[in-house]
Amino acid sequence: MSVAARLMFAFDNSYVRELGGLYEPWQAAPAPAPRLLALNEELATELGVDADALRAPDGVAVLVGNATPDGASPVAQAYAGHQFGGFVPRLGDGRALLLGEVLDVDGRRRDLHLKGSGRTPFARGGDGKAPVGPMLREYAIGEAMHALGIPTSRALAVVATGDHVARDTMLPGAVLTRVAASHVRVGTFQYAAAHDGPTLVRRLAEYAIARHYPHAVEAENPYLAFLESVVDAQASLVARWMHVGFIHGVMNTDNMTISGETIDYGPCAFMDAFDPATVFSSIDHGGRYAYGNQPRIAQWNLARLAETLLPLIHGEPDTALAAATHVLQSFPDRYDEYWNHGMRAKVGLADAQGSDSALIDDLLALLHAQRVDFTSCFRALSSAVRGDAAPARLLFAEPLAFDAWADRWRAQLSSQALSSQASDPRAIAEAMDRVNPVYIPRNHQMEEALAAASTGDLGPFERLLDVLAQPFDERPGLEPYTAPAPPSFGSYRTFCGT
Ligand code: AMP
Ligand code: MG
Repeated sequence: MSVAARLMFAFDNSYVRELGGLYEPWQAAPAPAPRLLALNEELATELGVDADALRAPDGVAVLVGNATPDGASPVAQAYAGHQFGGFVPRLGDGRALLLGEVLDVDGRRRDLHLKGSGRTPFARGGDGKAPVGPMLREYAIGEAMHALGIPTSRALAVVATGDHVARDTMLPGAVLTRVAASHVRVGTFQYAAAHDGPTLVRRLAEYAIARHYPHAVEAENPYLAFLESVVDAQASLVARWMHVGFIHGVMNTDNMTISGETIDYGPCAFMDAFDPATVFSSIDHGGRYAYGNQPRIAQWNLARLAETLLPLIHGEPDTALAAATHVLQSFPDRYDEYWNHGMRAKVGLADAQGSDSALIDDLLALLHAQRVDFTSCFRALSSAVRGDAAPARLLFAEPLAFDAWADRWRAQLSSQALSSQASDPRAIAEAMDRVNPVYIPRNHQMEEALAAASTGDLGPFERLLDVLAQPFDERPGLEPYTAPAPPSFGSYRTFCGT
């Protein structure tokens, strides 16, 4: 088969077909000297395309935006958004394009999207470009999230453009090819409401329901059922972030998907020492998007979605408001349910009845007080179940406090064993090791890998990807990837507008 035939994505572009008014047709800027830096072969296979064909010059031309594949219909998507609480009525893809939707080998509809592909009508003051470093970072963190079992957009490829990008210094440019369940955001609804009104919001809602929550059609009030579905998906998603210490960093409404996938890896990072006030983003001065604020912010963003849906929910404004408020107010309970379920699994109490939240809260308070590494501590707990508490104990500067907690914990584990099947410590420890990762994208290692990549050495980046692809399986030789950053790494800062 020819390269061209092996590059055939099965496009079916429903967004462009159905949502006129919510995009601008556009073409990518030409990249002068494309060079493939990273290709996700597993994802290429899922999308039904041949990875070798994507590596060939014709494939790389598609991935960087120099060639438009058959069936694609590139557009810059329109959206609005609350950025750090302030409403911006017109944001949109300033440096990105939706190429189209691909039906993957399992029949799932996936957006194929380019980021860093040049200025669009939504670029405002931006240059439309993206540097290599942040695009490789998005690739690696997205893959890490995927391997952790957290819903996320994924990267298909990163291609260096051969162009330069002016930031603090001149940097090499890149295009990231991104795959997502869709790029419909809370901000897409805000754009429809602000620029058109209920007619366009209704079309968008019907589209989003058909694409993501088809069961809502059957409900007595489909728009309310849709809101409830998004509320639930986001409650689940944010709980999953919290279980692994992930901080998104820029939870603006334009970065919150309707599908419930994590999107837009900008200033995100994983927390080392447990502290709910942890913030990495250099522009998040007030700590709006701090680790511990994420559930509250998600609910706030969902309220912005609900506002756009009010006229659809009921013709009588007070009735619509009461119904939407009722759904929004279910967020904390839904979140707590997801959070508690995941945290119970992390401490081996998945089968326990009743509330273990005091036990979990007390452990987190200890981690906070003694600045213990979140990931290492939870992983070490399975050793304690197997009979060796030392790995966990050693993480505490004042281990007596941990010992006292561990006595209570063991008592809970024993009472669980009496009341359920879960009495075999080995089985409990193994189940814990399936939810407590050994390897997360440690900030210092990510920085080292990106620094090497910037000098042309992709070895450390590829090794890091390999480590992150199996986050729950401890492998000999990978010990350095388990440790938090050394003190010499200093306090880590991440940047928006990359
Ligand atoms: P983000 O912080 O990446 O979610 O982006 C927020 C908004 O700024 C979106 O509308 C982006 O398309 C736009 N944007 C970010 N960087 C650039 C850039 N270099 N050129 C044009 N638009 C950009
Ligand atoms: Mg964004």
